Amino acid sequence: MSRPGFKRILLKLSGEVLMGDQGFGIDPDTVARVAGEVKAAKETGLELCLVIGGGNIFRGMAGAAKGMDRAQADYMGMLATIMNALAMQNALEQLGVHTRVQSAIQMDAVCEPVIRRRAERHLEKGRVVIFAAGVGSPYFTTDSGAALRAAEMKCDALFKGTSVDGVYDADPKKVPSATRYDTLTFDRVLSDNLKVMDASAVALCRDNDIPIVVFSIREQGNLATVLAGDGVCTIVQTEGE
Ligand code: UDP
Repeated sequence: MSRPGFKRILLKLSGEVLMGDQGFGIDPDTVARVAGEVKAAKETGLELCLVIGGGNIFRGMAGAAKGMDRAQADYMGMLATIMNALAMQNALEQLGVHTRVQSAIQMDAVCEPVIRRRAERHLEKGRVVIFAAGVGSPYFTTDSGAALRAAEMKCDALFKGTSVDGVYDADPKKVPSATRYDTLTFDRVLSDNLKVMDASAVALCRDNDIPIVVFSIREQGNLATVLAGDGVCTIVQTEGE
């Protein structure tokens, strides 16, 4: 797989990435740093779709664990992703990058609804499209939202920027001897229940042949490195391990 050959990609960032070293919420300096990396990626000529999670603010599962109705808590999680999308839009526009936010939950005063053909047009005009609110339904995550938007926008790959530098055979924070995979197949991820993205997201990428590149967005400059085909990451694809 030649990463430099990509024309259009979807970048999924977990919400945690935006909180920096804080334990919660949005750290403006971190958002500005990540926005700078997105700008640099855009300047290489890529068409960029963005999906940002909401885990730095609210996760439905956490609410449900404390007795909330799961669907109600999930809707709150989706609203958190809209806040993150607006924060990223603000940071990107301060750097002169044109953007549009499209939300799966309509919120006309602050962003557009998801309209695929309109998103196409934005990308053609060089805008970054930030898709918010996941798939717009409870019991899903923004990983599934990212896979869905990558499929409908015909992205060449889904880049998942997180706090670890790839997929390991055990949790590297708990097991020091854990080893990182360079490549994996979709089927192996699903059969071994490896923690890449949730199963529905992995299956959607498999069925639409969209490779997933898992990398750390915490290291400065890493997005550019990984997009150039270098650096540390795990690639999940149809063939070859
Ligand atoms: N969520 C949802 N449906 C979606 C996307 C997100 O219900 O299509 C809710 C869900 O509660 C989730 C929260 O929004 O926990 C935040 O998203 P996610 O956990 O994917 O964020 P991340 O872990 O990437 O920061």
